[in-house]
Amino acid sequence: LFVAFEGGEGAGKSTQVRLLQEWLAAEGHAARATLEPGGTPVGAAVRAIVLDRAHTGLASRAEALLYAADRAQHAHAVLRPALAAGEVVITDRYIDSSLAYQGAGRTIPLDDVATISGWATEGLRPHLTVLLDVPPETGLARARGRAEADRLESESLEFHQRVRATFRTLAGTDPGRYLVLDATRPVDELAAAVRARVGPLLPV
Ligand code: C5P
Repeated sequence: LFVAFEGGEGAGKSTQVRLLQEWLAAEGHAARATLEPGGTPVGAAVRAIVLDRAHTGLASRAEALLYAADRAQHAHAVLRPALAAGEVVITDRYIDSSLAYQGAGRTIPLDDVATISGWATEGLRPHLTVLLDVPPETGLARARGRAEADRLESESLEFHQRVRATFRTLAGTDPGRYLVLDATRPVDELAAAVRARVGPLLPV
């Protein structure tokens, strides 16, 4: 079972990924939590480059290819082997983040972004994507408290609004494969909603 968490800045993805992984482990499932960018050593190097884009003048298309490279390595070295071993794999960000940020955010055609991610992953898709939907104003206010937060100021509110709208549109095109949650709700309520959706999908 392959589950992805998606959402904008300050949506609480990493908290919900951790809570789901802990619950699955307590229930006796082999469950692995991972993330993009940075889920592999190669990805950690890519993450350092892409998060420093404001200082390096990183071109949008170069950025898109770096995220795709991170994802290709992640799929090859972590996602596919873990899934093949029967683990439940939970990733903090996946292809939808590239459609939202590199596509809508940096205005690269979404079809192109989808094509390079599809190629990078050889078509590996999550069984379920949990979208933690948060208004950018709320999410950014939460995220500003963090260590990496100074780079958030380099993007406009409109950028983050395009990102959010794209996540929501993607979820709307395939409701059976998405769980959309209002990420302003309390952490424990969100975790319970995630468990209720994931529980029936688990291998017996
Ligand atoms: O999820 P996390 O906060 O670790 O992501 C780090 C940052 O990378 C995000 O704040 C986002 O701005 C950026 N990002 C991106 N495109 C992606 C994934 C992440 O621009 N595909």
